[in-house]
Amino acid sequence: MVKSIRIPATIPFPPLLDLWEQQDEKGPDATRIYQFYKNLAEGRFTTTKCKDCGKLLYPPVAVCSECLSENLEWVDIPKVGEVYAFTEVRAGAPLQFQDTVPFIIAIVRFGDYPKNGIQVSGIMFDLSSEEVKIGTKVEWEPLEILGPGEMRRYWYCFKKA
Ligand SMILES: [Zn+2]
Repeated sequence: MVKSIRIPATIPFPPLLDLWEQQDEKGPDATRIYQFYKNLAEGRFTTTKCKDCGKLLYPPVAVCSECLSENLEWVDIPKVGEVYAFTEVRAGAPLQFQDTVPFIIAIVRFGDYPKNGIQVSGIMFDLSSEEVKIGTKVEWEPLEILGPGEMRRYWYCFKKA
């Protein structure tokens, strides 16, 4: 089952904090990384890899930061990674997460970092700080964001592998 969080209809997001428009290929704020969100909606967690120098780049980009090439391809991020660092949020969580505190924010390394891997920060709902250690194996899973209204968008979260 896909995990989900619901955003109340009565709380407007400031436009700068809401990337919804970027998730629509034809939207007014569409960017060249809209494919990232499209892949997430299809259950794939992906990033860009440079076809010229081979560098794996996260977050996904339109231009390679190593060689400035725009010759990039979308590749799947490995399912399982390893916790590199983490912290527990107990207070001051964003509105949509107030009912889920405490939760973990972790930096997880996927692949052979930094040579042929990436590190990604993300939220973990199902482990407490006592259960997470540096090196704990976790996997990403899709996170469906519901609302406001009928809106539906996609992100990712981590869970114990
Ligand atoms: Zn490159």
